[in-house]
Amino acid sequence: MLIAGNWKMNTSRAEAIELAGRVGEAVARWGMVEVVVCPPFVNIEAVGEVLEGTAVHVGAQNVAAEAKGAFTGEVSAAMLRAVGCRYCIVGHSERRQHYGEADGVMGRKLGQALAHDLVPILCVGETIEQRRAAQAQTVVEHQLAAAYTDCSAEEAIRTVVAYEPVWAIGTGETATPAQAQEMHAAIRAWLRTRFGDEAARRIPLLYGGSMKPDNAATLLAQPDVNGGLIGGASLDADAFAAIVHAAAEASA
Ligand code: PEP
Repeated sequence: MLIAGNWKMNTSRAEAIELAGRVGEAVARWGMVEVVVCPPFVNIEAVGEVLEGTAVHVGAQNVAAEAKGAFTGEVSAAMLRAVGCRYCIVGHSERRQHYGEADGVMGRKLGQALAHDLVPILCVGETIEQRRAAQAQTVVEHQLAAAYTDCSAEEAIRTVVAYEPVWAIGTGETATPAQAQEMHAAIRAWLRTRFGDEAARRIPLLYGGSMKPDNAATLLAQPDVNGGLIGGASLDADAFAAIVHAAAEASA
């Protein structure tokens, strides 16, 4: 099980340090779960220092598609690795929606992350209109195909996929466990066809979209749900720890 917290554009430096300290203490007990927090870029190093020696890893919320050069405002995979990142989120729906990140760029972001020993957490998911039009699976498969276009099975094993229905992110509305399982099974089947059985089994599939302590257990109990990507609830150390606890129980 893998539980990742996406702090988005929240936390001052002091708040990030405090939250990291509380998360480090609160999740120390649930050893079977891999835990990651993704603070804003500028707080990554400070959070990493607080979490040094704990079981909690640090990740970034985005990564550049290029290695270096004239790309104002971008942060490269090598830079993230140098400040202690282990993971990076790729293709979060807020990047796709508000910053025009298109499918075409995801393969290069994935490639940069893998080349610098970062584990990319690739986000995929449909809008409510696409779901109503019965296009959810097609959209997700298209996103997967675009991101994994140049990836080998050996590389794919070092990635994570997060299914995040756009209509469930930050809305308080969650996919039902059955909806999550159905899409996760479809993602697993797509990965099997593309990369073979072993890779498909080994790539963790996270659910993201208003996961909270009160709905985590049933979502995480689904056979193809291997963890969660948590937004709002990751800003509350107790709520985040409760989700980590639910993940530990689900994997016991
Ligand atoms: C997210 O931003 O990845 C997310 C899942 O947010 P929330 O948990 O707030 O819906």
